[in-house]
Amino acid sequence: MSFNQPLGGNDMPRFGGPATMMRLPSQSTAEGLDACFVGIPMDIGTSNRPGTRLGPRQIRDESRMLRPYNMATGAAPFDRLQVADIGDIPINTFDLKKSVDIIRAAYRDILATGVIPLTLGGDHTLTWPILDAVKERHGPVALIHVDAHADINDTMFGEKVAHGCPFRRAWENDCLLNDKVFQIGLRGTGYGPDDFDWARDKGWTVIQAEEIWYKSLAPLMEKIRHQIGSAPVYLTFDIDSLDPAFAPGTGTVEPGGLSTWQALEIVRGCAGLNLVGCDLVEVSPPYDPSGNTALIGANLLYEMLCVLPGVAPGIGSA
Ligand code: MN
Ligand code: MN
Repeated sequence: MSFNQPLGGNDMPRFGGPATMMRLPSQSTAEGLDACFVGIPMDIGTSNRPGTRLGPRQIRDESRMLRPYNMATGAAPFDRLQVADIGDIPINTFDLKKSVDIIRAAYRDILATGVIPLTLGGDHTLTWPILDAVKERHGPVALIHVDAHADINDTMFGEKVAHGCPFRRAWENDCLLNDKVFQIGLRGTGYGPDDFDWARDKGWTVIQAEEIWYKSLAPLMEKIRHQIGSAPVYLTFDIDSLDPAFAPGTGTVEPGGLSTWQALEIVRGCAGLNLVGCDLVEVSPPYDPSGNTALIGANLLYEMLCVLPGVAPGIGSA
């Protein structure tokens, strides 16, 4: 059996070739794949600065420099998994609620093939319909949610569907194993001192950014792996979890965030978990003139691929 490979930099200059994630082959469905990259070009769920509709395209563009081997962990995902880019979900950019329905239906079809989807966002609204579809396939899942924000609002501006509400909706729909939900990197100003307590009351573990300043996150990830065990896990990574010094190209920026090496420790610390899906959301190219935010996003998506089941169990777990 031969596996798809990213188009190499000695076969085609890095600035040419297909505009897919990592210059992988594209196909229209997830049929026959172990993992797939899929874009959701959406920003109509954002509450502040927009632009994430352009995120998937920019992440793909900045992914062109990625090489196939992970020099830190030894992972060789393209030697172990069949991977392709299956393009974008055709959301309705004039209607957020219809878009959520479109996403849910699309992920039902994607997950029905047995593939593990790696999603390029898009604003964070998209994780709710994905979790709905994941629940239909796998039952309730553990959740590792990396973000500056809790995204547990009941409503925003009176609306139940918005990028600040996905995990409240997922909880209402019984998508989550509440003793295996971890929110990492929360910070910033709030509306009241108990803003993060709704999640704690549900049994979720909330790790505020200040608790992990200056620290390696390898010990935290070890604890999380222990607590999750063999349960199916979804990893959702909001790029605004990173400090704006590293990732300014996003809509709702908060100072005092994660470093790039802490972000890598989180993703690499997922090795050995039963990951069933991942996303990287909230990259906003209009606020990312250097492209570095999208480039970090592309690298984190590659790192997610490197810790999927079947790539190299146990690697990167140090
Ligand atoms: Mn978020
Ligand atoms: Mn956020």
